[in-house]
Amino acid sequence: MKKNSRKVAVFACSGIGKPLGTVAREIGYELTERVRPDTTVLTCLALLVINDPETQQLITENPVIAIDGCSLDCAKKSLEANGAPLVKAYQSIDFFKKHKHLKPEGIAELNEAGQKLAALAAEELAGVVDDLLREGA
Ligand code: SF4
Repeated sequence: MKKNSRKVAVFACSGIGKPLGTVAREIGYELTERVRPDTTVLTCLALLVINDPETQQLITENPVIAIDGCSLDCAKKSLEANGAPLVKAYQSIDFFKKHKHLKPEGIAELNEAGQKLAALAAEELAGVVDDLLREGA
């Protein structure tokens, strides 16, 4: 990716079996598909496990946002272990603590509250995307 086409790479944890893991993935979709489609790219975390060269290049040449579903921080730790120099890391619960009336439920499919929580979180992260790209301009 050329310098003038820098984007923020977004990675969500796999979050299997946990509503807050599903929220993490949904935040990734909301952020990259609805809120900042032109300046972000959502990428599969597992590509780091297989040392995919394009993904390695993406995370070393661009700022990264990690969104995790629990305190094990799999996305954040995988990115750091793979040499990403600039990672802004979040957990779904950070957003739930701010919006406690939106209790996420469901795993394969989130309830309405969980979807609203993901949308609000993505809107908050839009400012982070803008700041990261401005700082690196
Ligand atoms: S951070 Fe938690 S929810 Fe996400 S993949 Fe790791 S263990 Fe699962």
